[in-house]
Amino acid sequence: MPRIHTDDPLTAALHQKIDNSITQPVVTPLYQNSAFTADSPYFYTRLNNPNCEELEQVVACFEEASHAITVTTGMAAISLASRLLAPGDHVVLNSLIYGCTYKFFQRLRKSLNLEITVLDLSQPASLQKIPADVRMIFFETPTNPFLKSISISAVAQRAKALNPSSLVVVDNTWATPVFQKPLQHGADISLYSATKYFSGHSDVMGGVVVVDRQDLAEQLRDERFYSGAILDPHSAWLIRRSMQTFALRMQSHQQSTSVLASWLESRPQITRVYQPHVDGHQLTGYGGILFCDLRQDLVERYVDFSQALRLFDTGTAMACVTSMVAQPYSGSHASMSPEEKAEMGLGKGLIRLCFGLENIDDLKRDIQNALEKIDATQSECRLPQEVSSVAE
Ligand code: PLP
Repeated sequence: MPRIHTDDPLTAALHQKIDNSITQPVVTPLYQNSAFTADSPYFYTRLNNPNCEELEQVVACFEEASHAITVTTGMAAISLASRLLAPGDHVVLNSLIYGCTYKFFQRLRKSLNLEITVLDLSQPASLQKIPADVRMIFFETPTNPFLKSISISAVAQRAKALNPSSLVVVDNTWATPVFQKPLQHGADISLYSATKYFSGHSDVMGGVVVVDRQDLAEQLRDERFYSGAILDPHSAWLIRRSMQTFALRMQSHQQSTSVLASWLESRPQITRVYQPHVDGHQLTGYGGILFCDLRQDLVERYVDFSQALRLFDTGTAMACVTSMVAQPYSGSHASMSPEEKAEMGLGKGLIRLCFGLENIDDLKRDIQNALEKIDATQSECRLPQEVSSVAE
């Protein structure tokens, strides 16, 4: 814990340092070593490393939680949480969820003989459908895609009433601990792809699992040790450094998103903008990821749109300092079958925009140019057909 006295988690996070009392550097250096002497509390980097520990303390500060456990990627964080399951357990997954998470549990279903129930937990009526033998409920809120809200406390209350030993797991990557602290609303586990906002610079991968319960922390640390999933020190050091600007970056993402969301709603080429419900209680703000529907006649022009953008890179990276554009249908949810995507209402017209730290007017200009470009060429494409149909 920090040696300073403050009630502000941000101040505490900024001053979080492991014990460097001998060398006294201003920032903790990189401990690029695999082994420690037998007298060291770190023992072996697969068990623990000062850089991982410092990052864990910083994340715990932001979440105002007792324990954080770093792993190699966001998927490793999900995988670590799933090690708490036993063969035959019943898992509830929210229907709107990151495609790889969905696939991960489908694959685990076969190897662990799990029972999986998929529900739309954003609908209060779905709470009544949670099975009595539920062992784990896994969801993201706001959901990916469509940014629907799920009440963590309502899900947790229902799950615990049915089975007191059930585990409520929230992937809080998009909301971030700056704007949402799942453990304070009854979740047992809050986890992150640190590759996204925590790193924020698209140059390092990582994952973090956060818990308040000592028994869960011990189990998860054991699982991490024996599965060898700990984050490497260099990545931990890089992410820890990024965490010094985390809160500032989130404020900037939030500001851009609130301006650009209303501006996008007025674009003739966009038929709908999806934004989360910031209720000020569970979700106190929101970062930089939005979804929009392209107008029906422009749906097939997504590639032209993304290529016309100058400030938005394409690809799976997001939640970083530069803007990104993606089509969830062919990107984040590509691992799902067309039928699975249709079931969740995911079509090719849905685009995901992640706003970086660029000037808001530059972003507007860039999006406007790209939308007008595809709209203009679309009209040119349409014209001969329209003329010929009129002629007929
Ligand atoms: N959870 C969410 C919400 C994600 O968006 C992602 C990746 O995009 C992951 C988990 C997986 O994280 P990683 O790519 O670090 O394994």
